[in-house]
Amino acid sequence: MAKKHRQPSAPQEVYVQLLNMPGTKVLFWAVGECPYCGARHYHPAGTERDDPGERLGEVASPCGNGPYILALPPRPLRKKGKKAKRRDSWDDLDE
Ligand SMILES: [Zn+2]
Repeated sequence: MAKKHRQPSAPQEVYVQLLNMPGTKVLFWAVGECPYCGARHYHPAGTERDDPGERLGEVASPCGNGPYILALPPRPLRKKGKKAKRRDSWDDLDE
């Protein structure tokens, strides 16, 4: 039973959202959907005084099915191009 070339499959990335516990300074990363069990999981991200980004990376899933990598979702392109899209919103305000 010596499977030598069994590739250590990299843990799957999951996108997280930073939330804070109401009334506290405690932050946590919310995993929308666990790749293993499909449930929502939470991981402590320190407090507002810490850098939550330091808590990203590989963690063990709370459901015990294996590790995954906490990652930030890709941001919508905003920096590029100067679409004057904001104008629209301003116009909407002008009733
Ligand atoms: Zn899970």
